[in-house]
Amino acid sequence: MSISSHLENVRFRIASAEKKYGRATGQAALLAVSKDCPVSAVREAFEAGQRQFGENYLQEAIAKIMSLQDLPIEWHYIGALQSNKIKKIAEHFTWVQSVDSLDAAKRLSACRPTSLPPLQICIEVNQSEDLKKRGVNSCQLLELVNPVMELPRLRLRGMMAIPKASLDFEEQRRTFGQLRLLWDSVKPVCPWDVLSMGMSNDLEAAVAEGSTMVRIGTAIFGERVGHV
Ligand SMILES: *Cc1c(COP(=O)(O)O)cnc(C)c1O
Repeated sequence: MSISSHLENVRFRIASAEKKYGRATGQAALLAVSKDCPVSAVREAFEAGQRQFGENYLQEAIAKIMSLQDLPIEWHYIGALQSNKIKKIAEHFTWVQSVDSLDAAKRLSACRPTSLPPLQICIEVNQSEDLKKRGVNSCQLLELVNPVMELPRLRLRGMMAIPKASLDFEEQRRTFGQLRLLWDSVKPVCPWDVLSMGMSNDLEAAVAEGSTMVRIGTAIFGERVGHV
């Protein structure tokens, strides 16, 4: 199957879930995760109407961004934020969804060129006990919101999460539902509008629980051969 038919299938899955769970049509945006994919695949998805793309690996991402400069793509950085990469990320992306420390946020703000609009930011949340994973817990999140909101070159838009993979729909929903409650609890302090959750295997559960952006790789571009 072609990328365009995969995309169509994913759009259908999102629209069906919106309908089934009482969400308005188009409430859950689609971010196409193109890590490990060639430039030609991104171009093909663009030609099929996709405009928002997510990348995890900086070097690979910048090469793609450069060779696709002719296209009005909105690039989202969703990978690790090592300090030596922050400047380039602040220069090349419209969004960074993987902010998980005040230090990284401060550096992104300081490095964001004044010629560009503020960087759109999500804080990455990780509610599992797995300390090896990126992301902040709910206490750390509540501490981060105010200082991040004050950074001049950032605009705090919401929260991103990658819950532990589960094949059980009800378990997926429970986890996403907890994230949704946490997201709602911040709204009195920060009127944010993005809840980025749901991937190829759990997008229906994420849409059911209020996701406003699903991040889909495999279901659009096929199995990844792995990052080298
Ligand atoms: C790779 C990745 C995705 C996409 O995952 P699929 O299961 O391939 O849809 C989504 N979000 C993040 C942060 C990722 O790294």
